Amino acid sequence: MATKPYRGIYVKKTYPNVWRGTCPSCKRTGVKLLWTKVEGESNFKVCKHCGNKK
Ligand SMILES: [Zn+2]
Repeated sequence: MATKPYRGIYVKKTYPNVWRGTCPSCKRTGVKLLWTKVEGESNFKVCKHCGNKK
């Protein structure tokens, strides 16, 4: 269970309600906000696309 902790059914079990929302970076709605983006001194949850972006 150590692999792919943010994928598939595991996510739904772990975050039944809190993992969907609007990405503050790309403004998409209904996306999974499981990636943390750090900008300056603040960090926030973003979608997969924004989270993987460097
Ligand atoms: Zn995004």
